[in-house]
Amino acid sequence: MLSLNNQQFSFQVISNKGKPRAGILKTPHGDVQTPVFMPVGTQATVKAITPAQLDEIGVTILLSNTYHLYLRPGADIISELGGLHHFMHWDKAILTDSGGFQVFSLGETRKINNDGVTFKSHLDGSLHHFTPELAIQVQEKLGADIIMTFDECPDPHDLKYNMDALKRTHLWAERCLKAKTRTDQALFGIIQGGIFPDLREQSAEFITSLNFPGYAIGGLSVGETKSEMLAILDGVDGWLPADKPRYLMGVGTPQDLIEAVRRGIDMFDCVLPTRLARHQAAQTFFGRINLMNAVHAHDPNPIDISCQCYTCQHFSRAYLRHLIVAKEMLAATLISIHNIFTLVELMRRIRRSILENCFDQYAFEMTKLMEKPAD
Ligand SMILES: [Zn+2]
Repeated sequence: MLSLNNQQFSFQVISNKGKPRAGILKTPHGDVQTPVFMPVGTQATVKAITPAQLDEIGVTILLSNTYHLYLRPGADIISELGGLHHFMHWDKAILTDSGGFQVFSLGETRKINNDGVTFKSHLDGSLHHFTPELAIQVQEKLGADIIMTFDECPDPHDLKYNMDALKRTHLWAERCLKAKTRTDQALFGIIQGGIFPDLREQSAEFITSLNFPGYAIGGLSVGETKSEMLAILDGVDGWLPADKPRYLMGVGTPQDLIEAVRRGIDMFDCVLPTRLARHQAAQTFFGRINLMNAVHAHDPNPIDISCQCYTCQHFSRAYLRHLIVAKEMLAATLISIHNIFTLVELMRRIRRSILENCFDQYAFEMTKLMEKPAD
């Protein structure tokens, strides 16, 4: 196994009074203060937002999808053009997923065996075979700071299937480690096991024995109930080493972020803020607002009068509603800026509350606020 260039990548917990943690993740493309929310740039772009706008919001790390970039434009083209950072003009940190989640979401069009997964491209129906080795090779060509092991993400409720899938996920984690050649990328291991605490614990035990520089919890927020998800997260702090970052994949409602930080999670990603924006919904600290509602037609106020984002500093709800009705592209951009800002700001406030030793009080107040309907 290749060791990591520790000068370029490290993680330090600077405060954890109880389970919630505030930390600093050092990467070759800058420091990331944790807990952190990572916006998703599926196609090497966070939809409707420029890198300059992400920078102004205070984003320090974003996620991109290996599956999508492998199919289009292809990892070789991105590598030829200087890697993902250069290609998309983002000089802060990037994390790429391994493609596993997307491939397993393809349903009937894919076939799994212990070697890997054969699937049909959702773009043109062409046949592809993905293996742990290829997932690493593609992610090395893309060149993100943090890359992920290739894992299987099964139905969280199917015990028998989860037991089989877990064996594959563990074998694949070892193969990913062996396949890795670059020393300037941190490879995170992924813990699976559905909604079954004993499988999760077993998975954590095996994956942490491989000594990855960070650990992700995969296979949650995929159809299980909120209480099933929280029951698994309750175990995380005990199963994972304290000195490594912990990343909960695909989770991003404000309530979920608070509940996961409460249980010791450091990193999150979710498409929610940009997806909501494309459906005319603004996320605020006091719930969601549907900007399409006629009630906003004459409203001179911003989405959130206390919000410091570019959108709320300059534009009224009436203007945003007009853009939506007129089908102007700027609507998606302005609402996305606000929605991402809200989650980034939420994480900044959560972090501050941890450092000031008042997380529980802050979480209580925020949860009460967010439960109120906004409209
Ligand atoms: Zn705003």
